[in-house]
Amino acid sequence: MSRIGKIAFWGFGAAAIVAGLGIVALRFVPAVQDFAVGRMIAQGMAIDRSGLMADDALRVIVCGSGSPMPDPNRAPSCYLVIAGGKTYLVDAGAGSFSRVVRWRIPVSGMAHVFLTHFHSDHIGDLGEANMQSWAGGRRTPLTVHGGPGIEQVVGGFNMAYAPDSSYRTAHHTEAYMPIAASVMQASLMANDDGTPFTGTQGRVVLTDGDLTVTAFAVDHAPIVPAYGYRFDYKGRSVVFSGDTVPTPSISQFGAKADVLINEAMAMEVVDMMSQTAAELGNDGLSHLLHDTLDYHTSPQDAAVMADDAGISHVVLSHLAPPMPQWIAEIMFTRNVSSKAEVHVAFDGMLIELPLGSTEVRFSEISR
Ligand SMILES: [Zn+2]
Ligand SMILES: [Zn+2]
Repeated sequence: MSRIGKIAFWGFGAAAIVAGLGIVALRFVPAVQDFAVGRMIAQGMAIDRSGLMADDALRVIVCGSGSPMPDPNRAPSCYLVIAGGKTYLVDAGAGSFSRVVRWRIPVSGMAHVFLTHFHSDHIGDLGEANMQSWAGGRRTPLTVHGGPGIEQVVGGFNMAYAPDSSYRTAHHTEAYMPIAASVMQASLMANDDGTPFTGTQGRVVLTDGDLTVTAFAVDHAPIVPAYGYRFDYKGRSVVFSGDTVPTPSISQFGAKADVLINEAMAMEVVDMMSQTAAELGNDGLSHLLHDTLDYHTSPQDAAVMADDAGISHVVLSHLAPPMPQWIAEIMFTRNVSSKAEVHVAFDGMLIELPLGSTEVRFSEISR
């Protein structure tokens, strides 16, 4: 063996022995365990996301890119919009808000939640979004915006969480968890006569500094109300389709937006699942799957709507059925033709629209 070969042999050997001793020490020595866990805690708590709050861009973080079909990698519908140092939540599918907390996104300033509609995959985590942002330092009540029925949904969550809230205030005191901040306020978005927006109805529902939020009807029949949203901030804009079939309201209210986040269903795959369920004798599942085909949008139609609206970037989300990201990027973009740049959402996707620019940047919140 050459001299360099010998040095490499003994070097690797020594490194392997040190690594082995480290693993043994971690397994059996409490002081080493405490040191390792302490380092992990310190690193986790030191994560600083304050840069996301800078007033230099309109930002969206995808906290749920999935649908009601259980998916190990995607929570159901959830988006966090950041504008002017404030955060706004669009939908709160079950298990989605824990992602926001785990990513250590500052939510103490969150004041508004916008629900597209009241299907469970859009509201399941509303109670947790309220509790976790309260525990995270929020001192004023959340206002939850939605169509007719919003009082019932918000009232129900408030009622169900009332014991939990009282425990936390009693335990941690009013100074840290003021009870008034735990009670969500419902805000109805409807026509003046109280009827839900339908067809291509819609209006501005929030002006907060330089941010404007517009709600508009989409077509998720027989589900009414069903809304989409447009966020405009200092010349940049993002549109959320909510759940819908192709509808002219996207091109009307989404006109010339920078980004359309549109729901997408791989129709042929859901059809395949429905047929497979039928072949296996599971008529109930086959029926439910088949029913979903008539109130969602295919990726191809989402791209057409974006082109009709003159939108430059499409993010396909609310992906159904579940599949890993690498295959989703193939299955949800095949046969899609669009002038827009097409992306397939994943949980943790960060979309940044720098102010004073037409650029849209896509990246990932590191975990
Ligand atoms: Zn729905
Ligand atoms: Zn849905």
